[in-house]
Amino acid sequence: MEIACVGGGPASLYFSILMKRQDPSHDIAVYERNPAGSTYGWGVTYWAGLLEKLGEGDPESALAVAENSVRWSDGVAHVGDRTTVHHGDEGFGIGRRRMLDLLAERATSLGVRVEFEHEIAADRLPDADLVIAGDGVNSALRERHADHFGTDIKLGRNTYIWLGTTKIFDSFTFSFVETGHGWIWCYGYGFSEDHSTCVVECSPETWTGLGLDRTSEADGLALLEKLFADLLDGHGLIGRAQVDGSAQWLSFRTLTNRTWHRGNLVLLGDAAHTTHYSIGAGTTLALEDAISLAGALREHPELECALTQYERARRSALLPVQSAARHSAQWYENLPRYIRLPPAQMFALLGQRHSPLLPYIPPQLYYRIDRAAGQLEPLRRFKRWLGPRVARTVQARSRR
Ligand SMILES: Cc1cc2nc3c(=O)[nH]c(=O)nc-3n(C[C@H](O)[C@H](O)[C@H](O)COP(=O)(O)OP(=O)(O)OC[C@H]3O[C@@H](n4cnc5c(N)ncnc54)[C@H](O)[C@@H]3O)c2cc1C
Repeated sequence: MEIACVGGGPASLYFSILMKRQDPSHDIAVYERNPAGSTYGWGVTYWAGLLEKLGEGDPESALAVAENSVRWSDGVAHVGDRTTVHHGDEGFGIGRRRMLDLLAERATSLGVRVEFEHEIAADRLPDADLVIAGDGVNSALRERHADHFGTDIKLGRNTYIWLGTTKIFDSFTFSFVETGHGWIWCYGYGFSEDHSTCVVECSPETWTGLGLDRTSEADGLALLEKLFADLLDGHGLIGRAQVDGSAQWLSFRTLTNRTWHRGNLVLLGDAAHTTHYSIGAGTTLALEDAISLAGALREHPELECALTQYERARRSALLPVQSAARHSAQWYENLPRYIRLPPAQMFALLGQRHSPLLPYIPPQLYYRIDRAAGQLEPLRRFKRWLGPRVARTVQARSRR
């Protein structure tokens, strides 16, 4: 089979690895418009379940990713001058660039042609049996047929910027700072021995109130360094300015598609769906798409059948994650509802931000129910049963 993968992100690269392992006679090319070793973003998080899945598909990739990741087991929240620590599940972080280098190396060693600085025009697709649109959230391949794919994009209300820092966080760290224009916060996590990620977020009112919409990147970073001085401990923030020197502040785009394939063209990863970064799942989902598509192609020799099967399986697997991501994003958009709770309660509800019930129950009552449910299994089961039903009812009403 001749396969052309457009975009050299985790989705395309891992898919090419799986397909080569399935059948070395496949002729596979991955086209990436950027030069090797240059990519957007800093570190990405994932959880142990991903390593198991990668290990089943390709033990070499799993080992390389594990060996190049950092780990943490605690979560820390700073709200003003109060600090709460939670000992939780083990989390992992890896540099996005490092991960892509590892996957590209592995793909090349299996015989995939990885062509950097090779942009594919949406109206001139490579002549192949299967074309993968792994070209990310702004996929030109998808946009060319947006009507067919039924693309829907919802813009988040808050504004964010994805930054790096030389401060090493050994826990997953949240820091909420109150300014004269409202709260601003960041999520910090390590991803290598010498760098961490810092995603800074705030409401649009705080963003414009602080003048972050008007300053150059350099002045904006200086202001953020001042606001998060306690957290950063003298370390600087590192950005990636646009050509005009402005900072890359964005509103998150939650993207869905009615269908994921058209003839021999199929959407993979962010081109097909996005989930808010506050649940740290986009890369994992992109890799799971690759596993699912490779599996469907193995099971179904007929292409249309395989693509339909892939789409069906992934859409249903994504539903709970998309719900969690939507509620997590809304939690931050409704931050004033939670931020002044006693620290232990605020942190507990931060951990529960994916819950479909939380927006509809007074936070302190929710906290008490959650504590009780932790001790009583029947109540926990009732809460799990009720959550999705409340969310579906409210969504159906808001659509009417
Ligand atoms: C602030 C932020 C924080 C995040 N944190 C996490 C996290 O902690 N954990 C996590 O799992 N996920 C995280 N994500 C999400 C994650 O980055 C994406 O979900 C993931 O990269 C999707 O992979 P992909 O392969 O589908 O697309 P991408 O990684 O976007 O790759 C697409 C590639 O296609 C290339 N391309 C585009 N058009 C063309 C073309 N025409 N020709 C050739 N090449 C092309 C691009 O240059 C790019 O390299 C975060 C996202 C954001 C915005």
